[in-house]
Amino acid sequence: MSISNPSRSSLCTGPVWFANAALYLLVCLLALLPRWSTAQPVIDVTDHENGRQRTGQAAIWHDPGARATLDDALTALRQQRFTALDSAGSTGMKPGAFWSHFRLRNTTDRPLTLNLEYVDHQLIELTAFARRDDTPYVPIADLSMHRPFDQRPVVHNRFVVPVDLAPGETRELLLRLSSDELGFVFPSLRIWSRDNLVAAHTTESSAIAFLFGGFFLMGLFAFCGGVATGERTFFAYAVYSLSKITCWATILGYTHQYLIRDDFQWHYMSISGAVTILCGLSFARIFLATREHTPRLDRLLLLMMANAGLLLIAALFQIKVLALATITLALLLYPVMILVGLVRWRQGSLEAAIFAVAWSLLVVGLVVQACRDLGLVEHNLFNYYWPPVASFTEMLTIMAAMGFRVRRLRQERRQYRRQLEQSKADLEAQVQARTRELEDAIQTAEREARTDALTGTRNRRSFLCDCQQAIERARRQGRPISLLMFDIDHFKTINDTHGHSLGDESLRAFTRAIVEQIRESDVFGRLGGEEFGLLISEHPDDSLVTAERLRTRIGRIRVLNGKRTIRFTSSIGVAHMTPDSNIDSLLKQADQALYQAKRDGRDNVVGLDWGGEPQAVS
Ligand code: GH3
Ligand code: MG
Ligand code: MG
Repeated sequence: MSISNPSRSSLCTGPVWFANAALYLLVCLLALLPRWSTAQPVIDVTDHENGRQRTGQAAIWHDPGARATLDDALTALRQQRFTALDSAGSTGMKPGAFWSHFRLRNTTDRPLTLNLEYVDHQLIELTAFARRDDTPYVPIADLSMHRPFDQRPVVHNRFVVPVDLAPGETRELLLRLSSDELGFVFPSLRIWSRDNLVAAHTTESSAIAFLFGGFFLMGLFAFCGGVATGERTFFAYAVYSLSKITCWATILGYTHQYLIRDDFQWHYMSISGAVTILCGLSFARIFLATREHTPRLDRLLLLMMANAGLLLIAALFQIKVLALATITLALLLYPVMILVGLVRWRQGSLEAAIFAVAWSLLVVGLVVQACRDLGLVEHNLFNYYWPPVASFTEMLTIMAAMGFRVRRLRQERRQYRRQLEQSKADLEAQVQARTRELEDAIQTAEREARTDALTGTRNRRSFLCDCQQAIERARRQGRPISLLMFDIDHFKTINDTHGHSLGDESLRAFTRAIVEQIRESDVFGRLGGEEFGLLISEHPDDSLVTAERLRTRIGRIRVLNGKRTIRFTSSIGVAHMTPDSNIDSLLKQADQALYQAKRDGRDNVVGLDWGGEPQAVS
């Protein structure tokens, strides 16, 4: 096959080869791991013991009732009821106590003080008996989690049994290990020289301190993030992180070593575990916003929280069966969190994907722990610390997810601000446009209110108003003012002869002709019907000349009606401003003059002299 299609072959075999290689590596790694369980009943020891050797698992006796005395154990030993452990290291979930028998032989010619360190933290009591040759067994250590920490012969967060060996001596040991009712026992102790244990313990404690410091710092950062952003997620994370410190410190024995030294209770571990599960679940609900986005899964999370609550109650009141049931359920349901993370990821949340990865690490850690506790794999430092390290990595990964979240929120906020600014600008532009339209409309309305619709010149009201202002201005400046009042002659006849619209056109032509002739500063307007007014700043004589000029101009106006041409004339009355005149008096006088002009035969100009007497000009 590889000859006929090499490229396909490499494609097919590539991953397989890789998988095989990975498997091989794993097997090699496992093979390289120290096989402590194969320890012999007689263990040769030196002063260089570094924890690699362990006390044997070849002679173990199970006492289900945990009531057997030393004599009972010795009887069992004589009757050869001690057998090899049938698992990789754990006794599994069995009630009662386990007895372990082995011999230590000092192969050196120096006296030895060895430390036998129990491998795990899940042990309540450890009693050690020893004897030389055929002398009776004597107790050499009686360790209990309930005893004050100070009573321990060796300061260590786990149980340590010190054993003295004379040069070349073989010492026979019988250990009684008892856990909780259904706890796990790892009937194997690491053998250390005193100095090596101190050195290893210092390294281990430093690593743990680093881990706890990390938890603390992450919690602190999250708390500060919460204060800065006001987001609940950060506070939930801070509490979760803090609960992890409490939980792992308690489980790994540091709470007993440093905090509750005298009256440490076994169920404190369950309490701290329950609290951490509760904190983790509530953090996940807030972080993933499950209530809003995945209501069904949220209900499942609530159920898990209720279960964790029950675990807490069971732990507080030491209801062991309930505690066991709820902790098992809690752990079995842990993968649900991965599912929730994946579902939220499918809904478009990148942080949720990271959360799923983080939680997977934790779940894998817990699976490793379960395999170790059930005796499927050997108990070693690697799988002993995997759960707390996975837990730490989980927090670290979630921290990264929160970083992503902050970045996304910031981007969203920036985008939102941009949109807001854009809408503000749009709104302002709209308001400005509307204001302009409104101002235009007002101006138009004002203009229309001031303008005569037919001729486009000032209407009566506007004319009177502007005239009054012009009069006052002229009076202030000492300038003369004259008012010319026009009335088209026989206009009715134009209407009657040529029609009303031709009459209108005549009025427009009249207006155009006058406007062409006057100055910007002059005030011209329609007083009504075919009557117009013109206010000019001229002395009486000049104004009469102007009136005459305008009259002549009016006479030249031509309005076409088909083939016929309409012509008309206008009579003009002129009045002059006196020191006490106003627009009304001026109008009255101009009207008088106009009346006189009509009487005088029309198409002429009449001005009122200073005494108010009409004076014909033309
Ligand atoms: P007189 O020489 O005495 O001023 O005679 P007259 O016909 O001009 O005067 P009269 O007051 O009798 O008639 C004015 C006419 O003007 C009557 C009216 O129909 C006409 N008129 C008034 N306003 C308008 C208008 O806006 N359009 C048109 N086409 N005619 C108007
Ligand atoms: Mg008239
Ligand atoms: Mg008229």
